[in-house]
Amino acid sequence: MIKNTLPGKFIAFEGLDGSGQSTQASLLRDFLLKQGYQVVITKEPTKDSEAGRKIRQILDEKTQEDPAELQKLFAKDREEHLKNTIIPALEQGKFVISDRYFFSSFCFGASDGVDLDWLIKLNDNFLLPDLSFILKVAPRVCVERIDKRGTAKTLFEKEEKLTKVWEAYRIMPEKIENVFIIEGERSIEAIHEEIKNIINEKIFKNSPS
Ligand code: ADP
Repeated sequence: MIKNTLPGKFIAFEGLDGSGQSTQASLLRDFLLKQGYQVVITKEPTKDSEAGRKIRQILDEKTQEDPAELQKLFAKDREEHLKNTIIPALEQGKFVISDRYFFSSFCFGASDGVDLDWLIKLNDNFLLPDLSFILKVAPRVCVERIDKRGTAKTLFEKEEKLTKVWEAYRIMPEKIENVFIIEGERSIEAIHEEIKNIINEKIFKNSPS
């Protein structure tokens, strides 16, 4: 994976569906904006690429695809996401916050029986986030939250499935640098506080500005 040497900082949020990534990503964006930083918030899979549109069809179970082929589509979408959105913003010194990134490929892919090391290799030429936060929420709680939200469940949102996905998320800090697992069954504010503390420690303390 490629280290970020661009002026901006790249932060990824990850976790099971319903774990609170979107909530924490937007709270962090608001916090950074208040501090006077420019922030781009973004999401994978994107809606902008051909691959992204195919992925959406597969996740919504409108079409089927072999699990490894699905992960190749994710990698293609990610390549375009980096080229068109993430890297240009980092070059301009902005913070980029992505709601999901390659960890989702590793963990959802592995839960589907794709070899984890193969998945990591497939994503090896991509930028490593400066910090990645994985929100830890029990699969049952995630499913309850998703039910409350009332949106249709996608392929990966079933409890048994989520349990398998978590098995892979759990070991991400051993495999990839700068990954923090955050206890996500707490108040939204408590989680946000912990994330801010880590950013203060790891990003602001190490930079002169
Ligand atoms: P994700 O982006 O991970 O799918 P969301 O941020 O959309 O998750 O959150 C899923 C649901 O859970 C939303 O209804 C949200 O309001 C709720 N939620 C998020 N964080 C928490 C939390 N810490 N405690 C309780 N509910 C939460």
